[in-house]
Amino acid sequence: MPHLLSASDLPLPQMLLRIRAWEEKRARGRDSRQGLLEQALPFRAEGSVALLFYEPSTRTRAAFEQAVVALGLHPLVITAESASVQKGETLADTVRTLCAQGVVGVVLRHPEAGAAHAAARVSSVPVLNAGDGAHEHPTQAMLDLYTLWVHFGMPDPASHWLAGRKVAIVGDIAHSRVARSNLILLTRVGAEVWLCAPPNLLPAATLPGATLTPCLQEALQNADVVMALRLQRERMEQGLLPSLNAYRRDYQINAQRLACARPDCVVMHPGPLNRGVEISDEVADSARSLILKQVHAGLATRCACLEYALSPHPESGAV
Ligand code: ASP
Repeated sequence: MPHLLSASDLPLPQMLLRIRAWEEKRARGRDSRQGLLEQALPFRAEGSVALLFYEPSTRTRAAFEQAVVALGLHPLVITAESASVQKGETLADTVRTLCAQGVVGVVLRHPEAGAAHAAARVSSVPVLNAGDGAHEHPTQAMLDLYTLWVHFGMPDPASHWLAGRKVAIVGDIAHSRVARSNLILLTRVGAEVWLCAPPNLLPAATLPGATLTPCLQEALQNADVVMALRLQRERMEQGLLPSLNAYRRDYQINAQRLACARPDCVVMHPGPLNRGVEISDEVADSARSLILKQVHAGLATRCACLEYALSPHPESGAV
């Protein structure tokens, strides 16, 4: 079954083209339901998709909810506060219950790494990982890659179209599912990826394909793309960082710091932003910021991801 648990599950050239197709349909303002359904899910245009969100989310949840509706399906939103998890039900039992109720897919956001894999083991329908702890966030990485693909003029999606480009991801790399999933996709299309964090927030082990550094200047030098990550305040409580001020002083992405990047360097952030901490207002709102383009791409990306996961795949034997 085509679960979507990791960025490595995403069929890349095909996904970029499908996201584009969804974007174009949206831009044409075609009415949606009939127009969108013509090319999507002709076999299964009804039923419910469970959106199991056990962690706060604005962008990811709203985009998945809209995408489910755009595909002619019904979103069944379940949050930790409203679910039987409050009564001690395990994730496995919740997933089995939803499957028994006939949902056609499960989208899961969960605070624990590995939760999406655990759900997939007991699910009779495709599971899409909407972020599991510090592990992965494949649909975020997909929308980030799509945003870059459009920014660089939609080169041949089957080529190594980011070859020769330097991407610097800056922030709490050790705990970032966004960094992990982005690294997988960025290296597949040839990017040179630098991961930069204060020493305590760098991963203990090397990550294949990435250069790790605590030195921001080195990471930003001649970068084509800089991605700032949200600084989670609990890192201070855990003693991994002395203070927000120290982080701001040494790692904030601001105009002065970007002076050593390429003049046409663009800036990204998965959101939510801690303005004035990991990114300055000036940079977040500047012409080089792709942040709102990332948000915009979120809906078409989730449409394409749902379409991929819920479509019949020849190798699965489904018809
Ligand atoms: N929204 C992203 C995520 O859920 C980034 C973040 O929350 O820091 O991982």
